Amino acid sequence: MKELLVLSGKGGTGKTSITASFAVLNQDAMLVDCDVDASDLHLLLSPETREKNDFISGVTARVRPDDCTACGTCVDICHYDAISTSEDGIAHVEPFTCEGCAVCAHFCPENAIDLEPDHCGYWYVSDTDYGPMVHARLIPGEENSGKLVALVKKEARERAEKLSKDIILVDGPPGIGCPVIASVSGADMILVVTEPTQSGLHDLERVLGLCRHFKIPACVCINKWELNKRLSEEVEKACERLQVPVVGKIPFDETVVESLVQGIPVVKYKDCSASKSIANIWSAIQKMLNQEEQK
Ligand code: SF4
Ligand code: SF4
Repeated sequence: MKELLVLSGKGGTGKTSITASFAVLNQDAMLVDCDVDASDLHLLLSPETREKNDFISGVTARVRPDDCTACGTCVDICHYDAISTSEDGIAHVEPFTCEGCAVCAHFCPENAIDLEPDHCGYWYVSDTDYGPMVHARLIPGEENSGKLVALVKKEARERAEKLSKDIILVDGPPGIGCPVIASVSGADMILVVTEPTQSGLHDLERVLGLCRHFKIPACVCINKWELNKRLSEEVEKACERLQVPVVGKIPFDETVVESLVQGIPVVKYKDCSASKSIANIWSAIQKMLNQEEQK
């Protein structure tokens, strides 16, 4: 079983459209959306939810006022200034400031502080026309997206093994932060989607640096390549210098926008120039994955 992760230096490069099209072309992959802060693969694959699970991570302290004797110990020892007192000295925890370190609960002489598990989001297992999908949603304002990504990947991998899937297709989060690092773990190959812009070139080099750091083979595709041919050439030169193959260039095609509006992956929506390029990229990646397997 192979795992292909699709990344981009920032959102809006076409990463999700390309992943959704790969899902259509493959027909029987295990699909994963690791963009837990702003998941959108479901918008193109119309999943039917089979399982909805809570994502619990970390704890928040809560004082039981009836048991608090207003000694003030917790106020003094909380490093995060998350505890205040009312006029009568009874302690109160500000949940958004509490880091869940548990020090207050440990030192409260009355044992009057509970540590309550944090409900940070949901993760789902769904069916799509192109294979099962594991995806998630972090509650806005909650942290721990890296942990949720790791959980989503673990669940997807276990299910893929049970179902004897040949491939796991992962739509990664944008950027190079903690969720991206969590999504990289276990990948056999990373496709980096970039655009011919100065910031795209900069982001590409950062993502490729991450791939190199984790020693995962990478390849690149340039989306809307002819919108700036000079910068496209620069992207290709940078890839050559970094010894990363460019597996394809996708032309700007209005049909892609139409397909997004319709909520249909472009390769299913219409046979157009973008669809053809994406199909060629998928063939090239399959070959590379097979070659990696034989190494
Ligand atoms: S340490 Fe315990 S008893 Fe003392 S103020 Fe805090 S909650 Fe109340
Ligand atoms: S758990 Fe830690 S951060 Fe939260 S209120 Fe207690 S001491 Fe402060």
